[in-house]
Amino acid sequence: MSPTTPFNSFVRDVPDFPKEGILFRDITPLLANAEAVEAMAQPVLALQPTHVLGLESRGFIFGSALAQKLGVGFVPARKPGKLPMATFNESYGLEYGSDALEIHTDAFKAGDRVLIVDDVMATGGTAAAAQRLVQRTGAQPLALTVFIELTSLPGREKVEGLPVFSVLRY
Ligand code: IMP
Repeated sequence: MSPTTPFNSFVRDVPDFPKEGILFRDITPLLANAEAVEAMAQPVLALQPTHVLGLESRGFIFGSALAQKLGVGFVPARKPGKLPMATFNESYGLEYGSDALEIHTDAFKAGDRVLIVDDVMATGGTAAAAQRLVQRTGAQPLALTVFIELTSLPGREKVEGLPVFSVLRY
């Protein structure tokens, strides 16, 4: 599907955000584009996941829309301390600092096929932590889908073995 207007015109480059030296790709205008979720969904429609795992926080927005479109349930991977029950925790380094993600230990069961969703893959650290979280439950990380992939960084190497789908690549 070709968008009416090229998607890259809906991505704003913000120099030195959130820290000096980082070129931040602001995707908020993309969220206001009704065609964006459709473009993200097309390559993953045939994968037949049982669940979507959305990564806090912009992965919640794309992830819940995709889950609805795929007709499957949505599970949030949250920042530490937000989930009320027993969790698995995986930490990772970011372009700008370090952080961790958590899911409930009973979020998935063996045999579940999980599509991991986020807005941007940069170093791949966040996505790799999500991949490990899914593996710890015994479920299968099926693929990662992001709107933007920063190909100057070795994100795909970090999520070895996991197919990666992206709409825009910089
Ligand atoms: P990574 O772990 O280095 O791949 O960073 C990916 C995470 O950081 C994702 O959750 C993104 O939301 C966020 N992120 C990194 N760079 C950008 C950017 O340029 N724009 C928007 N989000 C970004």
